[in-house]
Amino acid sequence: MHLILVKVYSIRGAYLQRQNPRQKDLGALEAPLTNLTAVKALTLQWVPAHCGIHGNEEADHLAKEAGQLEQNDKQVSYSEEKAIIKSLLRRKWKQQHPDLNKTDSYHHLSRPDQVIVLRLRTGHNRMNSHMYKKFKIGESEMCPCAEGEMNTEHLLQHCTLHSTARKEIWPDETSLREKLQGDLGALQRTASFKEEEKKKKKKKKKKKKKKKKKKKKKKKKKKKKKKKKKKKKKKKNVNIKRAT
Ligand SMILES: [Zn+2]
Repeated sequence: MHLILVKVYSIRGAYLQRQNPRQKDLGALEAPLTNLTAVKALTLQWVPAHCGIHGNEEADHLAKEAGQLEQNDKQVSYSEEKAIIKSLLRRKWKQQHPDLNKTDSYHHLSRPDQVIVLRLRTGHNRMNSHMYKKFKIGESEMCPCAEGEMNTEHLLQHCTLHSTARKEIWPDETSLREKLQGDLGALQRTASFKEEEKKKKKKKKKKKKKKKKKKKKKKKKKKKKKKKKKKKKKKKNVNIKRAT
């Protein structure tokens, strides 16, 4: 009796979990189980699906074999489609990155820092070099400092426009490899440097915009004043004409 109950529980539980993985309670079983506990003491235990049971192992083996066969063109739900694409891409990515180092400190960074470090590592970023060479966006691949191509190495190691921030973050000489492939602290410093550069750029842009707005306002005011003066002069001339 006890064993049967455990089996019923596990099958029903697995079914509900499959229907809705987030549904953790077994609502449908609650009432009959409560009734049974009035008569007999019950212990519920989750039984792992295969647990060395020959029939289950066989079924699992056959299901895996069937999964390798060509599948019928059957409609799938949106979430199933998403899961299939995700799994295929993960497999493809693993094949393309056989040297993936799981101990890489990159995996312990916050998500925004991961994005920064990955863009710096791969060179797929918004720096002039990539934007100009790949998309022909911008006037050239050069850095605004005019001392070199604007790329990861130039930004992290040489650009004079960022030498103050660089010295603050790396007071001692630090190699590019250390900045891009170092330990967690090293990668966090790199991300903070890029973040600082981004903030500086934003501030500069804001300042420029403000200056432009001020200039425009001044010009408008001047034009208005000129117009007013002209109107006044015209009025004066009319008065003189009337007097004569
Ligand atoms: Zn530069």
